[in-house]
Order: sequence, then structure tokens, then C-alpha cells
Amino acid sequence: MNENVRFKGEPAFSILTKEKCTGCFGCENSCKFKAIKMTLSQEGFYFPEIDTERCIKCGKCALNCPVLNFKSHNFGENYVKVYASFSRDDKVRFESSSGGIFTEMAQEIIEAGGIVFGAAWEKDLSVKHLQIKDRKGLSKLRSSKYIQSNLEGIYLEVVKAAETEGKKVLFTGTPCQAAALRTFTNSENLLIVDVLCHGVPSKVVFDEYIKYISNNDEVVSYNFRDKANGWSKYGVKAKMGNGKIYKCITRKDPFFHGFICDLYSNLSCYDCKFASIPRVGDVTIGDFWKAPQEIMDERGVSVVIANNHRGEKFLEKLYSKNKIDLHPRKLSEALKGNSRICNGFLNMRKNREEILKTVKKRGFIYIAENYINKTKRYVLDK
Ligand SMILES: Cc1cc2nc3c(=O)[nH]c(=O)nc-3n(C[C@H](O)[C@H](O)[C@H](O)COP(=O)(O)OP(=O)(O)OC[C@H]3O[C@@H](n4cnc5c(N)ncnc54)[C@H](O)[C@@H]3O)c2cc1C
Repeated sequence: MNENVRFKGEPAFSILTKEKCTGCFGCENSCKFKAIKMTLSQEGFYFPEIDTERCIKCGKCALNCPVLNFKSHNFGENYVKVYASFSRDDKVRFESSSGGIFTEMAQEIIEAGGIVFGAAWEKDLSVKHLQIKDRKGLSKLRSSKYIQSNLEGIYLEVVKAAETEGKKVLFTGTPCQAAALRTFTNSENLLIVDVLCHGVPSKVVFDEYIKYISNNDEVVSYNFRDKANGWSKYGVKAKMGNGKIYKCITRKDPFFHGFICDLYSNLSCYDCKFASIPRVGDVTIGDFWKAPQEIMDERGVSVVIANNHRGEKFLEKLYSKNKIDLHPRKLSEALKGNSRICNGFLNMRKNREEILKTVKKRGFIYIAENYINKTKRYVLDK
């Protein structure tokens, strides 16, 4: 059935439940009547709120919902080319989560006079998508922030830049965000990069954790992917306003441990339909955990998947300009350390609801001692 007919007059939220909504901001961007506002739920995830006085029930929001409109967007191409890859610039590689591929792609776009959209920390440690037009500004987008990003108005800005202004545009985001953007445009000027995504943890739990590690002092910077001890032993690092520093390898850091144990991720992440092949981006990037011995390197190795000819051509250009290494590998090798490439299921923990309901009242230390520290991972990806 034609989708325009199927969703005519039905606002996205009348069809989509909290279990399915990814908080991608697709509906918010779609509404020209400004009837939709994304607010953080009590559990700490973005969810649309509707102003019924403004809503005219046109159904446009349902058309820009990637969950309701799920389809493979790779131009019908049956294309999966897997690479182990990394930047040839050691500084970029060190400052990035894995092999620094994002920065190399972004620099290429900036040099062509284009615009890069990606996620940056805000002063209050929330995360927001920004548009960056100069090389220096890219440091804001570099490195993973394991918190849901705010994309208010961002897909419209991408459309404006790529379609109206005819600029080269790179968009990076989680697979659900990449899929949402696909419902707005398929401009030839646009390269969409989705990150392999384990899921997003609750902002409410993160805020309580930050209060705990900082002893209620201001945290001036936070890094989820500090490589001081190497890529495979990466750690978290927070700098406080009073000069103090909190550092911990991620496996021992309680917030990160709870995140990878799936104790407090967004409900839709437990059954993510975007963690599948073909992937939604033109290119997919992630960590090449369990990289074969001959390419393993503590400076970081990315798994990079070209999902169509557009993605492949872009990677080849970076390779031919000597910006990146690009080693063809089998999909099965990448899957060994990263089943999330094509498996969207996470185990729902029985304590999830209890944790999210009570963390604000009981504080982070109670949650850490009573739930997080007692939980073991189900699947060891590394
Ligand atoms: C929530 C989340 C979960 C992830 N889970 C996995 C996983 O299970 N397995 C795996 O292999 N890789 C995962 N990644 C991807 C991984 O952490 C690296 O981003 C990836 O390896 C690319 O690294 P890089 O060195 O090329 O560049 P980096 O500089 O590290 O790239 C960072 C890029 O990620 C984007 N980004 C950062 N934070 C967010 C955010 N909150 N929302 C949307 N986009 C963001 C930035 O815009 C930037 O483009 C995840 C990333 C995120 C954000």
C-alpha cells in the first residue's frame, strides 16, 4: 500500500509506542506547525510530546518516522564491502574512538566547502547535533558520546544545505537517526554515515553518575573514549572545575559497565531494526574489535562498511589521497567482535525498570552497589 495513504491523518505517536520510538527527532523535524516537541522522559530518553491545539492531523510526522517507514535505503544495491581501516594521521587516530575514520571523511567534506553534521557535548553534558564548516570545529564532533543526541531541526538543516544550497554534506549519527534522515532526502550531495550502535543509555542515570564522580562539582569535560592506555583498554576521563580528574578503565567504570550490560538503555534499542544488513548509511563505522592479528594496533582500528557505490567511491577517494588505510576483510571477521552489525537484540534486564524509576531518589551509588556491580555481561564482544 502507498505509505502516503497508509499514514494520512495519523500522527506518529498515535501509532508508535514508547517501546518502539527511538527518539530520533524525525517527527519533530517534519512538523511545520511546530506541534511536536521532544522532551526527556522520566526514564531519560527523548520522546515526542504533542500540542493538540497546533496539530492538524496531517500525518506528515508518521511519514518521517523511520520505524513506521522502515525500508532499506541503499538504492536497491546488494552491497556489503567490509574493511579494516584507520587514519594515517596518528594524532587524529589517538583522539578518535577507534581508527579516526570519521575525522578523515569530515575533513574531505570541509575541504570541498561542505558541511559536517555530528554530535557534540554541550556545557551541561547533554549531547546535541551541530553543523561544522571548518576543520578546527571538527574536534567537537570527534569521539563517541554514549548519550542520546538532540537533533531539533537538524534534518531540515541537512536538506537545506544539500538540496537548496547544493553543498556537499556529511551526516553522522546512530542508525535510527541515519534512517530518519533518509526519509527527508536522498540528495546526491549527501553522504550518510551510521555508527555501529550498541544502544543509548539513560540520561537520567548518566546525570546521577556525573554527580557521584564529581562530588557535585561542575564537570568541565568528559571523554568516554580516552586512549591513554591504548584502544583495547580505553577508559573514561572527566575533568572537574576544581582541577580534579576522574579516570577509570571502562570495564571498571560503573556507568559504562551498566551500559554494556544493557541495564538502562532505551527500550527500542533492545530490538533495534536498524542493526541489520544492508545497513542504513552509505557507510557504516565502528570498532574492529577482535581485529585479526596482522592489523591489530593499539592506536585503534575501525571497521568500515561500504553499503553502496556512493559510500565505496568516497572511501576509495580517501585511500587514493593517502588519508586512510583500507584493508578488505570478510564480514565474518568483523562479526566476531561486533555482532551488533546485524543483530538488533539485547537481553532485557529484569531490574531495568526498577533502576530507572528509582535512580533519582536513591542516587547513583545505591544503583551501582545493588544492581550494576552485581551484573555480568551476557555477550562478550571483546
Ligand atoms: C551511542 C553509540 C553506541 C555505539 N556502539 C558501538 C558498538 O556497539 N560497536 C561499535 O563498534 N561501535 C559503536 N559505536 C561507534 C564507535 O564508538 C565509534 O564512533 C566508531 O568506531 C567511529 O570511530 P572513529 O574513530 O571513526 O571516529 P569518532 O571521532 O570517534 O566518531 C565519532 C562520530 O560519532 C558520532 N557520534 C558521537 N556521539 C554520538 C551520539 N551520541 N549520537 C549520534 N552520533 C554520535 C559523531 O558525530 C562522530 O561523527 C557507538 C557510537 C555511539 C555514539
